[in-house]
Amino acid sequence: MLSNLKGYHRPKSIAEALALLEKNSGTILVIAGGSNLVRSHNETVQELVDISSLRLNYIKEDVGLIRVGATTPIQELIENPKISNLSDGILTAAAFQSYYSRMIRNVATIGGELVQSNPLSVLYCALLVLQAQVRIAGGEEFALAMNIFLNKKGLNGGLLVEVLIPKMADRTYAALSTIQPDPKSPPIIAACSRLTLHKGLCRNVKIGVTATAKIPQRMQEAEIQLEEQRLSNANIESAAETVYDTYQPISDHLAGEEYRKEVVRLVVKKALNTCLELAEEDL
Ligand SMILES: Cc1cc2nc3c(=O)[nH]c(=O)nc-3n(C[C@H](O)[C@H](O)[C@H](O)COP(=O)(O)OP(=O)(O)OC[C@H]3O[C@@H](n4cnc5c(N)ncnc54)[C@H](O)[C@@H]3O)c2cc1C
Repeated sequence: MLSNLKGYHRPKSIAEALALLEKNSGTILVIAGGSNLVRSHNETVQELVDISSLRLNYIKEDVGLIRVGATTPIQELIENPKISNLSDGILTAAAFQSYYSRMIRNVATIGGELVQSNPLSVLYCALLVLQAQVRIAGGEEFALAMNIFLNKKGLNGGLLVEVLIPKMADRTYAALSTIQPDPKSPPIIAACSRLTLHKGLCRNVKIGVTATAKIPQRMQEAEIQLEEQRLSNANIESAAETVYDTYQPISDHLAGEEYRKEVVRLVVKKALNTCLELAEEDL
């Protein structure tokens, strides 16, 4: 409950929304789908800026990338063929596995999901390895790499307006692997991988894992280890071992850190093996 709520604004333009956010910073918040805000207890919030009339609900194809507006609902990511045809379908799968309830998927937005910084967000993890960028409006507009954004140089009172997802180059493969004992809860752990094969060697390797502190993280030591190496079973095994050594999981009501640490090798191996299978099918 936002028990001190006194005002509700529905601006028609980004400039109008930003002016409201700037004027009342500290006591005003953006509301997108509202699915998280309605259950929050934030007594400092006195006003809300509803961004549903800013025409930010879209999925558009552009040169080399897909643009997703911040208020696009999660369900739309699942149903839209531009998203399912992108990046070996990992965004569709990630969106589906992140949310059990279709009712919530119909209202929760991609912008709300990213601003939450939820450590279990499979969607966030997938966008991280796909090197998506977010566009923030706030005075100037600029693009930030997802990992910078998520490590919270932050929104600074600005508005997330768009997510830019690059299309994958030829011979690039992406995969998602999860452990989800209860389909009504998010996966307790997920790994996403993405890599390009050039003359049989891995390039631009990205490996992301959920259930790390605050937000999903890239496993950079394992990524570096696989660069310019063959995607062989032995190298996959060894990269998964490096992830095991560096992974620092959280404990929560879904699973303990010891369990997550134990199973991280499995999900990373599965994701990388799926990339290998996709590469073999592509020959
Ligand atoms: C019954 C129920 C079930 C749920 N189930 C799940 C689930 O299965 N999985 C899951 O991950 N979550 C779940 N949630 C939580 C919620 O749906 C998610 O956190 C969702 O991502 C929030 O998106 P939203 O668009 O509704 O954000 P909102 O609630 O509108 O906003 C969330 C936060 O993000 C900020 N914000 C939103 N958009 C922007 C923007 N464009 N720019 C700047 N700031 C912004 C808001 O100010 C607010 O602080 C559930 C919630 C409920 C009530």
